Amino acid sequence: MESTLKRTWAEIDLDALAHNYRTLRAHVGGAVKFLGVVKADAYGHGAVEVSRLLQELGADYLAVSSVDEAMELRKNGITMPILILGHTPREQVGLMIENRITQAVTCRAKAVEYSEEAVRCGGELTVHIKVDTGMSRLGYLCAGRHFATGVQGICDACAMPGLKAEGIFTHFAVADESDEDSAAYTDGQLALFCRVIDAVEARRGEKFALHHCANTGATAARSDTYMDMVRPGLLLYGCGEFAQELGLQPVMTLKTTVSTIKTYDAGTDVSYGRLYTTPCTTRMGVLPYGYADGFQRCLSGKCELVTDHGKAPQRGRICMDMCMIDLTELPQVDVGDEVEVFGKRNRVDDLAALAGTIPYELTCAVSKRVPRIYFRGGQEVSRELLLRF
Ligand SMILES: *Cc1c(COP(=O)(O)O)cnc(C)c1O
Repeated sequence: MESTLKRTWAEIDLDALAHNYRTLRAHVGGAVKFLGVVKADAYGHGAVEVSRLLQELGADYLAVSSVDEAMELRKNGITMPILILGHTPREQVGLMIENRITQAVTCRAKAVEYSEEAVRCGGELTVHIKVDTGMSRLGYLCAGRHFATGVQGICDACAMPGLKAEGIFTHFAVADESDEDSAAYTDGQLALFCRVIDAVEARRGEKFALHHCANTGATAARSDTYMDMVRPGLLLYGCGEFAQELGLQPVMTLKTTVSTIKTYDAGTDVSYGRLYTTPCTTRMGVLPYGYADGFQRCLSGKCELVTDHGKAPQRGRICMDMCMIDLTELPQVDVGDEVEVFGKRNRVDDLAALAGTIPYELTCAVSKRVPRIYFRGGQEVSRELLLRF
């Protein structure tokens, strides 16, 4: 581990995470429960450490995308409820029951599989019913002429032996977009979700304990979607426009170091493809940070990274393990100096925009060879490297 520190690493500011959680809790109000989405290793931040803190702070639920992600949390002391949003094969139903893991039920076929397996195991699987109100991905199709069959399918699932229907939820397609058309689409999804809930609960004569739909965009900007529980991911990590508006702080700062500095004559070609030719005498730094660490190759020659003395333009093709930055205007920068790729001084949102993508993709891309170093109260509290030694 020591060997890889001071190469390229991600600093995870748990105080920023706590600040974001508390700010969001205050934003949604005391009556609304809080589910933190920690799928994909908490968007690259480290699901175990993030979940430990959320559990300590009193969050109500966590969500992941697979049973492996859920089990990682259970094996690391996370006892609070966990919802699996995605596909779980029927063979894992026993494991979910044993570990009190909640599963999303997304269609009749899955409901039947889960029910059969739960009965076979002699246990009860807690489930949340997923309603497709316009995302057109997972969930019982309920729009338009599918309303009656959708409601029937959901009622059938709730009545199946071995299943305990604790919750019902849906997912918005454009809640993070602020134009009128998107707002109207979200209105439509919300209205349909409410109609489905009313119809199912009237038929069953029983209410679900948890109704939820608010992802990041809705949690930030639409209090009419809160219901019993909000379900943000990105906001928690302090990324995206809404995070800026709410005064949330970026949790991850990705740092690397200057490994070599060389001075080239004018007319020197730099890196693969000879994309960049020095226009004058140029002082170039090599960073041990490339696309295998998660640096989008499409950013080659398009971005700036932050040194302690100012911003340095990235030059030439980004390689697998390295990239170059221009230090001609920053003579004070020396070998061994730290460089911030993104974080508090260089927002990941800006870098994502330059790459033509969303911040989610950049934090998720930070690869397993980049150690995560966790800080609390300004002190390092733990380290994690996802390699097998
Ligand atoms: C990923 C995910 C979320 C969280 O999305 P954010 O945009 O990060 O808030 C919420 N609900 C579901 C079903 C998801 O898949």
